[in-house]
This record gives sequence, structure tokens and C-alpha cells, in this order.
Amino acid sequence: MTSTAALAADSAGAPLKPTTIERRALRDEDVRIDVKFAGICHSDIHQVREEWGTAIFPMVPGHEIAGVVSEVGSGVTSYQVGDRVGVGCMVDSCGECDFCRSGEEQYCDKGAVMTYNGLGYDGEPTLGGYSQEVVVSDRFVLRIPDGLGLDVAAPLLCAGITTYSPLKRWGAGPGKKVAVIGMGGLGHMAVQIADKLGAEVSVLSRTMAKQEQGAELGADHYYATSDADTLKSLRNSFDLIINTVSADLEMDRYVALLRPLGALVNVGLPSNPYQVTPGGLVGEGRTLAGSNIGGIPQTQEMLDFCAEHGIGAVIETISADQVDEAYDRVVDSDVRYRFVIDTATIAAG
Ligand code: NAP
Ligand code: ZN
Repeated sequence: MTSTAALAADSAGAPLKPTTIERRALRDEDVRIDVKFAGICHSDIHQVREEWGTAIFPMVPGHEIAGVVSEVGSGVTSYQVGDRVGVGCMVDSCGECDFCRSGEEQYCDKGAVMTYNGLGYDGEPTLGGYSQEVVVSDRFVLRIPDGLGLDVAAPLLCAGITTYSPLKRWGAGPGKKVAVIGMGGLGHMAVQIADKLGAEVSVLSRTMAKQEQGAELGADHYYATSDADTLKSLRNSFDLIINTVSADLEMDRYVALLRPLGALVNVGLPSNPYQVTPGGLVGEGRTLAGSNIGGIPQTQEMLDFCAEHGIGAVIETISADQVDEAYDRVVDSDVRYRFVIDTATIAAG
């Protein structure tokens, strides 16, 4: 075991406080990573505040991890000390079921082990990336291409793959009209990726406040959903809608924006149910779907795609003592567009 400085919440809704945690002794297939940056995902806030049901405390959040390999186990052949790497939302899976074998570990039959607020197959609680060091099985380590800064790459490990995966699955590309609901951490990645995939991209934000930046990121159109007439005028417009909203949403209003046979894919995870009128789906043969992060091979594909197209997250780098304030700002949608913690600022508690 080795000790490392981390930020932990002791109970639901508690502030993130500096602490010292233990990382397991290196197993043969393990990679030790010197964490440089950790992104703040809205899922961190949902879990620290127990908005998804009972959580495990103390909690060290963080599943957008970027750093440098500092040690490898005796069985590791694909990574070396000094490699630039990342870790996303998963740290283990059975490796044997149909889903693991096809690189969709997030749908593992046995249940993938989440990077934090989970239990490893050894029964130990998992602790995430708001920390100076992580130890992770090499199967769940990603390579960060040289062209990508570690700070702007960190958010790709969740926000990037969570939007890349449904955009690819539902065929975003030339000739396709794609809309993104919510221009936050996930949304601003969806806009960039859909644009580089060749789709015609629209942002559906509550106001026009982020229009200029939306255009810079690749949006062809930008609409304010607070304007009922605007939404009405967009009926039957899109082949694919990615919903990244973290709060309740009137789903019927957005389903109505799909062209016949179009799909609205939810990646946002508010705690309340959505209400959907069957006729709005049936009449035009529309699909209402969901998507959970993405598998490890596709995460590597996404990182390579982002490097090739010069895509990174738009970030605001913060220190450890600013995390609580950053959480409030994310909930207030006062983030442009991802907070990233400089983990060197975490003092051992
Ligand atoms: P975020 O940065 O807070 O972005 C969410 C965006 O939703 C905001 O920027 C805002 O966009 C919009 N929004 C917020 N409150 C709203 C409201 N009351 N009504 C309408 N729109 C509202 O959050 P994020 O990190 O991108 O995460 C978004 C959601 O995805 C969270 O629920 C998170 O847990 C979930 N998530 C899911 C997965 C997955 O695998 N499916 C992975 C990661 C995250 P505008 O200001 O532009 O309106
Ligand atoms: Zn996330």
C-alpha cells in the first residue's frame, strides 16, 4: 500500500476536504499513475450529494483522470514509466462476458467496477481521481496522444466518450442534422465532436448567452429553448438529438423536434423520471434511447480522433480549495465548460 493526498467528502453533501488515502500494492497487471489533472463531471456532484441514491462515504470523486505512468506491474507490457495516460469511469469488469469481449465493458454482465463510489471485485471501495495517485489495471488505462495537453484531455475520459459513443452509434456525419441539448461539459464536447464528424450541428440551450462560443466550437445554429415559438418552429427538424441536461426536462417538447425515424438519446442523468407521450414517438417512428459512457476501445478511438482533429475540452483550471465553489457553479451552469483540478494543489490532510 502507498499513501497519497486526496480530496474526500465524508458524508452526503459534505465539503471536499484534503485527506490521505491508501492505494493498493501494485498487482502484476497494475499501472501506477501520477495524476496531474482531474475533471469535475456533473456526475461527481450527483453522487457526492447522493442524488442517485445511497452512496459510499468517504468518497473521493473523479473519473476524468489524466497523468503520467510512474510504475508498472511485472505483467504490464503496453505501458512504460513516463507514458501520458488517462483513466475514465471504469476500473474493472469481468473481461469474459459478451459485452466485455466486444469492448462494451460498461455493460458488463457482472457489473463494471466504477472508478469511485463503487466496490472492486475484492470488496474494497473504489476511490477516484481527485487525488495525486491512482493504481489501475492496465486494461482500463488509456493512452493520451502527444498532441493533447493533459489538462484539456482529462474531461475527454468521461464527457468526451459519453458524447462520442452515441454520436457514432446513431450515425452523426455528413447529411445528418444533430442537436445537442445543454451546452455544459458534455454538451460542449458533443458540439465539437459532431461538427468534426461532419454533421450539421445545432445547440439547444436555455438562453443565447453562449451562442458565440457555440459557433466557435462548431455549432451551425444556436437556439434558446426558453422561447416557446423557437421550439415550435424546430418541430421535425433533427435526425439525432443528444440530451445532456442534468435536470428535469419536458421530454415531449424535444421528442417533437425529431424528424421521422430520428432518435433522441439521453445521456443526462437527473434523478426524476421523464414523462413521454407514446403518440409523440409512435406517430413518426421515433426512438427514445439512452447511452452510458463508452467502452475502452472506443474511448481510445475517441482520444485519437480528438487529437487528430485538434479537439480538447474548454477548461477552467482550479486548485483543490476551489472545488466546493466549483460544484455550486456547475449546478448554476456557470462553467465554461469544464472545471479541471490541478491535483498538485491537493495537500495531504
Ligand atoms: P453540466 O456541465 O452541468 O451541463 C449540463 C447542462 O444542462 C447545463 O450546462 C445547461 O445547459 C443544462 N441545464 C442545466 N440545468 C437545466 C435545467 N434546469 N433545464 C434545462 N437545461 C438545464 O453537466 P455535465 O457534466 O455535462 O453532465 C450532464 C449530465 O450528464 C449529468 O446529469 C451527468 O450526471 C450526466 N452524465 C451522464 C453520463 C453517461 O454516461 N450517460 C456521463 C457523464 C455525465 P444550458 O445552460 O446550455 O441550458
Ligand atoms: Zn462523468
